[in-house]
Amino acid sequence: MMSNNIADRISVVRDRVAKAAIDADRDTASVSLLVVSKTKPVSDIESAYNAGQRLFGENYVQEGVEKIQALEHLADIEWHFIGPLQSNKTRLVAEHFDWMQSIEREKIARRLHEQRPDNMPDLQILLQVNLDNESTKAGVTLANVQELAEQVSRFDRLTLRGLMAIPKADATEQQQAESYQALYTVFQELKEKYPTIDTLSLGMTNDLEAAVKHGSTMVRIGTAIFGERN
Ligand SMILES: *Cc1c(COP(=O)(O)O)cnc(C)c1O
Repeated sequence: MMSNNIADRISVVRDRVAKAAIDADRDTASVSLLVVSKTKPVSDIESAYNAGQRLFGENYVQEGVEKIQALEHLADIEWHFIGPLQSNKTRLVAEHFDWMQSIEREKIARRLHEQRPDNMPDLQILLQVNLDNESTKAGVTLANVQELAEQVSRFDRLTLRGLMAIPKADATEQQQAESYQALYTVFQELKEKYPTIDTLSLGMTNDLEAAVKHGSTMVRIGTAIFGERN
């Protein structure tokens, strides 16, 4: 049984991350935890914050901006946009979020660059990779990552930090390992080319351990902390 208490659940997830890192011979501090709060109320985010959590992910622009505004009084909180973004909504992300993890085309990056206010730090960018070439899923193919990285790296209001992926849900363990490995290889290549790259955002409630084993530096966890979404 999962505890009803958000602080307890966060500590269970932190323990899972730490154990996965140790099993993979990695430093436990090399994997950060992004808590995915989409559809959940502001009070749940405050509970997580009070348990020491600082990184939060939202999928829907309007909902995310409302929460960011409601929680402006919380120091050091960091907001990551992780959902699909239409070009007519880029301004809201540019003006309110710290990170944007789901860049899949140049046009959206260009708009974010143009709309990022001068008095804010650079928007931190991850390119979303469509790992298994699923037609239903967003993201750039692994073959086209380098080109998109090149384009995004030219925008000086953006800082390119790495890659994000949502792996196929029904993959076998073997398939999963192969796609994670392919992703990690491209991540390493990019890292050599762009000194700002340090983040591989991979792993959700069900594949956290496998993702850490394959080099994830940021896991994005919703269900294990807030319970099932409606
Ligand atoms: C919802 C979501 C998550 C969290 O998934 P859980 O399985 O609930 O942990 C992570 N990443 C993205 C992009 C999501 O949309």
